Amino acid sequence: MIDLRSDTVTMPNAEMREAARDADVGDDVYRDDPTVNELERRAADLVGMESALYVPSGTMGNQIAVRVHTDRGQELLCDEQAHVVKWELGGIAQLSQLQVRTIDCGERCVPTPEQVRERYVEEDLHRPGTGLLTLENTHNSRGGVAVPKEHIDAAAEAAHDLGVPVHLDGARVFNAAVALDEDPESLVENVDSVMFCLSKGLGAPVGSILAGSEAYIDRARRTRKLLGGGMRQAGIIAAPGLLALENVDRLADDHENARTLAAGLDDLSGLSAPVPDSNIVVVDVAGAGLTANEFVDACVDEGVACGAFGETTVRLCTNWDVTAEDVDEALDRIGTAVDAVR
Ligand SMILES: *Cc1c(COP(=O)(O)O)cnc(C)c1O
Repeated sequence: MIDLRSDTVTMPNAEMREAARDADVGDDVYRDDPTVNELERRAADLVGMESALYVPSGTMGNQIAVRVHTDRGQELLCDEQAHVVKWELGGIAQLSQLQVRTIDCGERCVPTPEQVRERYVEEDLHRPGTGLLTLENTHNSRGGVAVPKEHIDAAAEAAHDLGVPVHLDGARVFNAAVALDEDPESLVENVDSVMFCLSKGLGAPVGSILAGSEAYIDRARRTRKLLGGGMRQAGIIAAPGLLALENVDRLADDHENARTLAAGLDDLSGLSAPVPDSNIVVVDVAGAGLTANEFVDACVDEGVACGAFGETTVRLCTNWDVTAEDVDEALDRIGTAVDAVR
């Protein structure tokens, strides 16, 4: 099976497995794990933040971030297609007791300064007040779009002018940096906190990072404990994470493979796939008279795994375990699959 469902499906390589086995460890709740400490220090440096926290998942990182930035009952502003509202089980309501005010950011993926000002709510006797703006880069649901620095900065500046902090869901922020040829540090320089995943394109088996100011991360550490994310000899899983930080440049290969995949799909009759910015390819299968689920089932029958995204859209994600040859083979198989069901 050529697995294009996600960039989370990769297997740790021999080097990562050895690093896990040989890691120096200690009780990380006591801050005694040297491997976790090193990972947090290097991760913070990589994004130019004062401090960082290793968390079990991107979802936990985002949820901690939101909770630490806000007071109960406030409003959170974000794109209506944001991962934090779409794919995190309503955690914002359940864990932070916030009301969400979404914005349709369209292809821009992040709000314009005007949209931030328009949707901002000033706290008074009747109104809860806006507590946080969250942005996403790359933007998953909108097709792995790499949002340019100017757009991130403009939205962040508008929020800051209103006294509203900004969190960046940067699950794939290094994909954005590579796609835009930007330094990751510069891409996040105007946000207050950033979460990024080690377990996606960077190839680690487990874990994400939440980075921000020292005071902010101190509070985040307590919230991680509250949510049950205080881990003990976590160096075992952090050691592959350290190696993952070396894999940023490699993401360019995934992007190239994604462009090849999209072009090949677009060439198949009835399919339409725009040129992707990063490693996420979204193909519309309506022109072939198929639903997303029918297309996915047909692909699985031919040995290609992918995921339904909308009624007639399907997501295919290139990743570390998928070579250029695999992409060619996947295209052949998908061609056969479409011919078989159409
Ligand atoms: C994957 C993802 C997350 C969550 O990460 P998990 O480790 O799967 O919990 C958050 N935001 C975005 C944009 C993602 O793509």
